[in-house]
Amino acid sequence: MNSQIALIQNIDALLPQTQCGLCGHRDGCLPYAKAIAEGEAANKCVPGGQPVADALANLLQRPVLTAEASVWPVQADGRPQRMKALIREDECIGCTKCINACPVDAILGSGKLMHSILTDLCTGCELCIPPCPVDCIDLVEDTQPLLSDSARVAEQNDLRQRYYAHIQREEQRRLHRKGPVVRAEIDTELFAQFSAQADAAVPVIELPVQKNEQISTADAQTTIELAKLRTQIKKLEKQLSVRDDEKKRLLLTNLQQQLRELGA
Ligand code: SF4
Ligand code: SF4
Ligand code: SF4
Repeated sequence: MNSQIALIQNIDALLPQTQCGLCGHRDGCLPYAKAIAEGEAANKCVPGGQPVADALANLLQRPVLTAEASVWPVQADGRPQRMKALIREDECIGCTKCINACPVDAILGSGKLMHSILTDLCTGCELCIPPCPVDCIDLVEDTQPLLSDSARVAEQNDLRQRYYAHIQREEQRRLHRKGPVVRAEIDTELFAQFSAQADAAVPVIELPVQKNEQISTADAQTTIELAKLRTQIKKLEKQLSVRDDEKKRLLLTNLQQQLRELGA
């Protein structure tokens, strides 16, 4: 296996897989693992707290840094207090927005019906809270005993699988424009590239393909083109939000035009 991919995989294995984006990487743990491998500071995982910052420093043979602080108090294992989300079900209007926002598919419900959270699966990432139009989701302390090391690894592996399955489904939804899209577009190119080169323990992420159709070479190429265009557009929009640049603006208009022509 490519040594850079192996390094990313080893870093990712230490991250909690909460996929909360609090490290500054909106698409979750894998993009942060990649950034760490490329030199970013390894103390930004908020749910991981000091134990994860220490483990990463040890893996990478870098100086130990103080972990980013959490708003929650520290538990006995040195990590921030784990939280769980709860829906006040009698107030839920069944809009389904929280379902699409949950990176690990821990919410059950359907249109105009009450929604519930599978407490065992909820990581307390808080991503379902902002999209809720009636503000009926609360966070409560997780009262379960702290996880052993082996239980934590098993949980992280399960969360990673669930997140990757979630990405696949959300990308299909985006492609076919069905239902509300709550999570911002995900850099599927990175996930596809990573999982294609990693070993069998990592779920394979495929770039979105046309539903119920044989995948022709042309379809696959278009899909890859779309993913690349979206990534470039996202990067340019981010850069332009910080500093205006005429050339970049022109390039952005061009890329947006190409995206429209490809039918996205
Ligand atoms: S769990 Fe840590 S590494 Fe993963 S997205 Fe959240 S802050 Fe980033
Ligand atoms: S239910 Fe909400 S807090 Fe829990 S994992 Fe899903 S999005 Fe995160
Ligand atoms: S976002 Fe809020 S109102 Fe909408 S389904 Fe979820 S809990 Fe119910």
